[in-house]
This record gives sequence, C-alpha cells and structure tokens, in this order.
Amino acid sequence: MAELNPFKIAQAQLDEAAEILGLDNGTRNLLRWPMRELVVHIPVRMDNGEVKVFEAYRVQYNDARGPTKGGLRFHPAETVDTVRALAAWMTWKTSVVDIPLGGGKGGVVCNPKEMSEGELERLARAYMRAIAHFIGPDIDVPAPDVYTTPQIMAWMADEYSVMRGYNVPGIITGKPLPVGGSLGRHDATARGGIFTVRESAKLLGIDLKSATYAIQGFGNAGQYAATLYKELLGGGKLIAVSDSRGGVFNRDGMDPAKLVEHKLSTGRVENFTNSEPISNEKLLELDVDILFPSALENAITDKNVGNVKAKVICELANGPTTPEADKVLYEKGLFVIPDFLANAGGVTVSYFEQVQNNTNFYWPIDEVYTKLDEKMTRAFHAVYEMHKSKKVNMRVAAYLVSISRVAEAMKLRGWV
Ligand code: GLU
Repeated sequence: MAELNPFKIAQAQLDEAAEILGLDNGTRNLLRWPMRELVVHIPVRMDNGEVKVFEAYRVQYNDARGPTKGGLRFHPAETVDTVRALAAWMTWKTSVVDIPLGGGKGGVVCNPKEMSEGELERLARAYMRAIAHFIGPDIDVPAPDVYTTPQIMAWMADEYSVMRGYNVPGIITGKPLPVGGSLGRHDATARGGIFTVRESAKLLGIDLKSATYAIQGFGNAGQYAATLYKELLGGGKLIAVSDSRGGVFNRDGMDPAKLVEHKLSTGRVENFTNSEPISNEKLLELDVDILFPSALENAITDKNVGNVKAKVICELANGPTTPEADKVLYEKGLFVIPDFLANAGGVTVSYFEQVQNNTNFYWPIDEVYTKLDEKMTRAFHAVYEMHKSKKVNMRVAAYLVSISRVAEAMKLRGWV
C-alpha cells in the first residue's frame, strides 16, 4: 500500500509543513529528497562456508546544519525507502533539539536473530569497509538502531580505525564505554522520552505517580522507558508490555525491573509471572494514561486509531503513526509527543559522545543527564508553543520548528 510507504509518509508530512511555512519551491524540492545515497552489496562468509551477499544502504539526507547523523538498522524488512524516511526524520530530529548536525541513516537487509556472533561481526566489518569512503567524523556518523548494539558499533569503529591506521572513535557513536562511548548513551532515548512525558503531564494536569502506562515494543527504548518511568516519575503502573512475539497484561501493574530481567533471560515478555497474554493490537487500544509505541513504523493506522484511548502517546519508535491516524488522534483530543521529538534523546547523547571523542575529554554522568534534560525540555516547549500559537497538532508543530531551522541554514549557505 502506497500510503504505508514510510518515505511517502515522510514526504507528505514535509509537504504539509512546507505549505504552512510558505517555503519556496527550491527549498521544498531539496527537502523532499536525500542529498546523497549509497547502495552496496556486500559478501560475507557464513559459518557453513558459503558466501552470502547482503544489500545495504547509507543515506545522507541533509547536511545544511552540520555533518549527517543517524543510526544503522539490521532488519530483514529493510528497504531503501524505509532508510530514506528514517534519514529524513533524523534531519528533523537533530534540528528540533537544536544540535549542529544533519540527518542520515543506514540499513542492512539481514536477520540478526538467525546469525551467529561471528557472522554478525563479519557483516558489521564488511559493511563498514563498504561505506568507509562515504562517511567520516566530519561527514556522516552512524549509531545503533533496531537490532544493532554497542558491540556492533565497537567492531565498526575498530574496522574504520584499522583502515585509517589510527584510532578514530568519532566515526560512530553508541560505542561501549571502554572504546570511547559516553556515559548515559545506553538509556538516552528512553530518558529523553520520559522528560517529554514529564513536561506534557505538567501542562495537561496528569498525575504521573498514579497514572497507568503501556509499552509496545520491548527493545532498548521500551525496556528503559519501563524502568525509568518509575525511577524518574516516581511511580506509575505498568499494565501492559509487548514485543514482536506477543504481550503481557496485568491491570494491577507489573514490576518493570522484573519484566526486563524476564525478557533478558528468556528472550521474550510472554509467560511473565502473574500476567495474562495480550496481543500487540489490543495493547495499543488499552485505556491507559500514557502509551509508548516503541517498536517499528505504522503501529497506529486508520484501522485501529478509532479504538486508541491513551491520553498521551509518547512515540519512542520512529514513524509509528500514519498521517490519517494522526488526524484522528488530534480530533479525538489525544496528546501526541511526535517521534522525532520524543525519541531525540538518543541522538542528543550521541552528539555529546562525538563532542567528548573530538575533545578527548569525558564527562561525568550528571553532566550528561543535565545537558540532556535541558535540550529535551527546551525542544518540547518550543514545539508546544508552536502547537498553541499556530493551532496545529504537535507533529506539525515539530515539523514547523525543525524545517524552518533547516531551511534557514540552506538559505544562509546560499543553496536556495
Ligand atoms: N537510531 C537512533 C535514532 O533513531 C539514534 C541515532 C544516533 O544516535 O545517531 O534517533
């Protein structure tokens, strides 16, 4: 279905904002497409001795505000259009939190769940060799995303450093601490999202200590959202969680830390003590105060949006709501913290990691947390003020804030 192509969705969202901002055609057309794209086919020797060829991408969407930045996905359903959409959203993400970077994204079509550690390492290194001439600390800097880990970042940083002949930690972020990672990067996406929930609740008059919440998707962002909600917001009741295999539900609440432990030891959330099963679909329709879509694109669509009831939807995933569904959420008066604002904490601490790598001076954890809070809180309120003053939904407001900054940089540079 054309309307569920994430890149078409990203372009439609851009068009709507460009219309409101009255952007000229040159600016609009440049922002509708990635500036540069690389497609590679990489051979990897598998454990059975055969060579398998993987298709992979790196897209540099726009670098008007600084070097492109964005994660790298290992996923069987990856397509060039998904990577383009994600690269566009990275451009708006770095702009909305006002860090001096552009947007990019990468992807490898593969199923890491079916690969051995050795195969994953060979794939990670081969991908880095294939794109090394296209990226660089001052050009384009990858990071983790769906199914890529700090260990994968470490292999890639090593491969690049071997090619250059010296250590280049700034080539990639989300690295483990001993090889130039930043304190606070591991839970930064969720932490940033929780800060935006805190700010929303103040404005909407929601008592977060007694509020209920549900999480769809239990990867890095979802797991840390579960535990950080309790830690930073002082309570709350986690009533449902799901991953790609299924979900668990308990109206009286579940212990977030124990759920994470269960997921890490069994590889799934199913069969958690004192819980009943719930499907991903039903979870999204629960009557909860805060819903965290934290999995993949197109979770809330025209098919289920009529039944969505959460008061606040904090989009930790990229692109979880389709444009049709967005309109309905707005009409229903549900409050959406849009993806590229809600999940901007990850790239914000990635930026801090780059700064630390480039200066070779590392910050204490409190400095990371304080600076992250400042960035997220300021970005949230800039978007909220736009939402109020222009009477548009929060997503369009976030687009207006971000795109006007990118457009201004392009104009100042004389591109348009
Ligand atoms: N993959 C994350 C995102 O979608 C982080 C990107 C980064 O740290 O550069 O925002």
